[in-house]
This record gives sequence, structure tokens and C-alpha cells, in this order.
Amino acid sequence: MKAGISFFLPLSLLFLSCPSPLPAATARSGFVMTVLGARGGMLDGNLSAYMVRPAGDDRAVLCDAGTATAGLVAADRAGALDDIALPPGTGLTRPGYVLTHTIRAYLISHAHLDHVAGLVVASPDDSAKPIYALPATLHDMSEHLFNWRIWPNFGDAGQAPTLGKYHYRALVPGRTEPLPGTAMTVTAWPLSHGGIESTAFLIAANGASVLYLGDTGPDTVEGGHRLDDLWRAVGPLVRAHRLKAIVIEASYDDTRPDRLLFGHMTPAWVADTLQDLARRAGGPSPLRGLTVLISHVKASLAEGPAPQEAIRRDLVRDAARDGLQDVRFVIAEQGLRLNLD
Ligand SMILES: [Zn+2]
Ligand SMILES: [Zn+2]
Repeated sequence: MKAGISFFLPLSLLFLSCPSPLPAATARSGFVMTVLGARGGMLDGNLSAYMVRPAGDDRAVLCDAGTATAGLVAADRAGALDDIALPPGTGLTRPGYVLTHTIRAYLISHAHLDHVAGLVVASPDDSAKPIYALPATLHDMSEHLFNWRIWPNFGDAGQAPTLGKYHYRALVPGRTEPLPGTAMTVTAWPLSHGGIESTAFLIAANGASVLYLGDTGPDTVEGGHRLDDLWRAVGPLVRAHRLKAIVIEASYDDTRPDRLLFGHMTPAWVADTLQDLARRAGGPSPLRGLTVLISHVKASLAEGPAPQEAIRRDLVRDAARDGLQDVRFVIAEQGLRLNLD
């Protein structure tokens, strides 16, 4: 990775720096995750988008697509796409090649604009690929985005005529599906997000997995048990240390009152739910070595320190209080590439 992009705010012992990239040819297990968009609002060039691929394998999926092309350009400038082989003769820039060849599918957690805008505006120049989501999200995309009014219908359902570039693939909660054209599988679980359904995606390959959570509120505030259901499902993977990373949001810092969360999390709620995961996993130090990538921090136009600084400060305190010293917390930044072994 090149210098010039600030991947991490001031370090504490809990926040380790990014490991140096492994040569792709020698990596055989684990994942590479590249942050194309990190923030949860305001910055239209930097909204939720996380590219995931097995280590040593250039066939990727994009978890959410709030920002796509702008994120690829930023990641390319940061050197975070340098390990992707660019064949000669494509006539494409590296961001163009990654958009149309490396990214084989989209996994969309929900259809809020900060999770789909990059996909929509890139669609005329994108390659044909499937969009995997729960049925409610696919319905929102086909009815309210790709409907010839908001945007031409690049999907294969909804308002005629359908251009059919994107193939909607409905996932069934808890049922594992292969991701064609990749070496990965996906399993989805619903999340509760302030009155609409969001999604968690478990992506697995070679006996390892990573878990991406779209926007979610805490069970206690949302009045349900979807996070607990998720932790019960992935607990055995965590206990076996086969889950390499969790992407989870912390939109606001700990000063935000629960009644103003609007289906989002704070560092205190993240620490609280990770304690629940540890309990569900069981065994000694189940979260040891787990990377937790904090997504969706709300950007701010106010003067003063960046919101990430308050999130980091709160997480350090909350993690220490809740016995989560084993967890490797990282705040997502655009252009960050994580090697998850
Ligand atoms: Zn969002
Ligand atoms: Zn949302």
C-alpha cells in the first residue's frame, strides 16, 4: 500500500496496523477485503462497499455498492488493487477491469441509496452479473430503482422492457448458495434496520469465512432477536476460529441516545453484541484473533476532529470494559486492503 492515504487514526494497542500484503501466488487460505467505500452518509464518493475475494484468487464479490467506480479509483490510487493481475490488451484501466471482470456479483444488504448508488450509476458501463439479496431488497431495487423512471431497467424483472444485465438472485435465510464464477459461497440472514429489513452475508471459501453485516440496530432497541439469531448460527465457526472477520457498523459515537439511533449502532452496542457472540460461541477466548472492521461511521461537515476519532476512543474504552481485548478492531477507510488469514 502506498503512503498518502490515512488508513488508521492514532493507534492504540487494540488497533493493529494492516498486515503487509501476501504475494498472491503463495496465499492459499483466508480472504482479501478491500474497502471501496467506508462512510455511512454525506460523502457520496465514499459510501458502503466492501470487495471480498479468497486469498490468491482474483474472483471477487462486492458487499454493498454505495460507491463503486469512485471507490475503485481511490483504491487504485492507494495501491490497494495492485495485487490484481491486469491482462494486456483489455483496453481498460485497472478500476475498469476490476469493475467488469474481478467483481463477479453484488451482495446487497438493503436498497438504501448509500448501499446501491454506486451500482446504479455504474450500470451502463458495468458487465452482466448477478445481484444477490433477500427478496425484499430485490423487490425494492426492481420496483423503485431500475424501473425506467429513476433509472433504466438494467435488471431482469420489473418494468418492461428489461435489459437483463443484472440477474436478481433471491437468497433464502440460512441457506448456503454457491456464488457462480467464484470459489465462494454465501449464506444470508435478515437484520433489523429501523423498520426495514437489512442483511448479513456469510461468505465462505476453503474452510474459512468472513461475515458482512449491512446496517443494523441493536436487538434491544429494534425489539427483536435477529443479531442473536445470527450469532447462534455463526457461533460454531467463531469457536473454531474459522471466521476471520466481521464487518459491522457503528454509525454514531456513544453520546447518541438509543431513541435517535434510527436502526444503527454505537461502539457500546457493538461491544455489547460481540459479548453476546462470544457467549454463543463458547469455549476459551472465542474471539481471539477475530478482526472486527467498523463500517458506516457517519461523516460530518462540522468543524473539529473526524467522527472516526470519537468512535475509536469509545471502542477502546468499551472493548476494555467488556473484556474484548482479544479482538482486533479496525476502522474502515476507503482504499484499505486487509489480508485476513
Ligand atoms: Zn446505510
Ligand atoms: Zn440503511
